[in-house]
Amino acid sequence: MGRPRAFLELKRAEPGYRPVEERVRDFHSVERQMNYEDLRRQSSRCMDCGTPFCHAYGCPLGNVIPEFNQMVYEGNWRSALELLLSTNNFPEFTGRVCPAPCEASCVAGLTTDPVTIRHIELAIIEKGFEDGYVGAGCTGIRLPMRVAIVGSGPAGLAAADTVNRLGYKTVVYESAPRPGGILKYGIPDFKLEKWVLSRRLKLMESQGILFETGVTVGEDISFKYLTKMFDAVCLACGAREPRDLNLTGRDLKGIHFAMDYLTGQNLANEGDNDSQHGVISARDKKVVVIGGGDTGSDCLGTALRQGAQKVIQIEILPMPPLNRADYTPWPLWPAVLRRTHAHKEGGELLWGVMTKEFLGEKGMLKAIKCVEVDWKRDYEGRPLSPVERAGTDFILEADMVLLAMGFTGSGNGKLIEEAGLVLDQKGSVRADAMRRTNLDGVFAAGDMVQGQSLVVKAIADGRRAGYAIDSYLKNKRFNCDCHS
Ligand SMILES: Cc1cc2nc3c(=O)[nH]c(=O)nc-3n(C[C@H](O)[C@H](O)[C@H](O)COP(=O)(O)OP(=O)(O)OC[C@H]3O[C@@H](n4cnc5c(N)ncnc54)[C@H](O)[C@@H]3O)c2cc1C
Repeated sequence: MGRPRAFLELKRAEPGYRPVEERVRDFHSVERQMNYEDLRRQSSRCMDCGTPFCHAYGCPLGNVIPEFNQMVYEGNWRSALELLLSTNNFPEFTGRVCPAPCEASCVAGLTTDPVTIRHIELAIIEKGFEDGYVGAGCTGIRLPMRVAIVGSGPAGLAAADTVNRLGYKTVVYESAPRPGGILKYGIPDFKLEKWVLSRRLKLMESQGILFETGVTVGEDISFKYLTKMFDAVCLACGAREPRDLNLTGRDLKGIHFAMDYLTGQNLANEGDNDSQHGVISARDKKVVVIGGGDTGSDCLGTALRQGAQKVIQIEILPMPPLNRADYTPWPLWPAVLRRTHAHKEGGELLWGVMTKEFLGEKGMLKAIKCVEVDWKRDYEGRPLSPVERAGTDFILEADMVLLAMGFTGSGNGKLIEEAGLVLDQKGSVRADAMRRTNLDGVFAAGDMVQGQSLVVKAIADGRRAGYAIDSYLKNKRFNCDCHS
């Protein structure tokens, strides 16, 4: 513990955001970074409580938070970096985009504000890059066994980084022209500037990982080829099958899936548009975003920056409570009203609204028909099912609709069928706690297993698969040596 009473004496501080009028004119990161000295002081607010829920419960990676806070407070940034990297392959991603479940379960948060953990994490890794310590100490050992990773989102990258560090020859197959998955193609630059990803990918390549992009496993190369050429395979293909809204008028021009929309703009920001993804522009348009989650909020922020005339985001769920809901007591991730930075930039968010029909003229979208809904709740107050409120139908003018209602699964039917992978009830690939699928030597990680989730969970899952692959290959080698 830095200073025993610091959490009582020192207020939580955050770096804050660039002013709205400035940030909506560009796609650069909206969040500021705090200076190292202020963060060092913030780290002293850590109580070093008996049971650090941040580490043991909140963080899916099990980041050793109280200890790195102590090291930062002592100015021992290098040790803090080593400790952080021992549980998290890519703190520069989580330090920027993680919703920080660690902070939601911080014990200090029970009586005052939680420790600024996410920003401390970001400072540790960024200082490490600045001081030239990141990438040092990578393995020189090279084992003869080869591992194929399919998919280069955070789960695939974490699995690749883990097995590569353990000495396995690692090849990542990626169907998109560039690696990164949603980090590259989905999350807007105003949350994660793409130089952060490029810097990491360059490092991984320099450490021996081979990226084969523009290769779809199951189409361009067979799954059988991979199992023949590699000693183990990890599938990390994400869950990118978008949920559709098959209502009357769905075929009108002007209705797009969120990922297609975000991808076009992300690529344009880098001058990297491919033939598949041109910019879908919201300039001067009346935009309705259907879906009130993070993807919807990313669409809202993007449409505002493109110069939309008006943006309305609608969500079928009821508005969450202003304070932590009773059914999510501490240290659970709280059900509570969250206004993202995009919501503070403009637009309007309507809760408890269901879409009934898309209306158009001459094939072009003109409006959507909606209705307000009430929610039946369980005994603790969780919303269960919507019921239309009679007489509340209304029309929203719209010449662009962005569908941001989540994802239904991985797609990848051909690959799954060819491989003979078993799926669970939700349609995700079934994998056990060690991320083993039903096929010998084939592992799966990330959204492909857990459904659309979080970057931090994808990294944790990729690491888990990486270590499981190591155990599997060690056993295999041991058995071969014993038999020969
Ligand atoms: C718009 C958007 C914003 C988000 N914002 C946040 C956020 O701010 N914070 C947060 O924590 N989480 C966020 N998420 C969720 C997070 O990005 C995902 O949970 C995470 O990226 C999942 O990682 P993954 O590696 O499992 O899958 P993905 O990132 O989807 O990567 C899967 C990769 O596999 C490739 N692939 C698929 N099939 C094949 C094949 N057959 N052959 C070769 N390659 C293949 C795909 O092209 C893709 O590159 C967001 C999600 C979206 C959609």
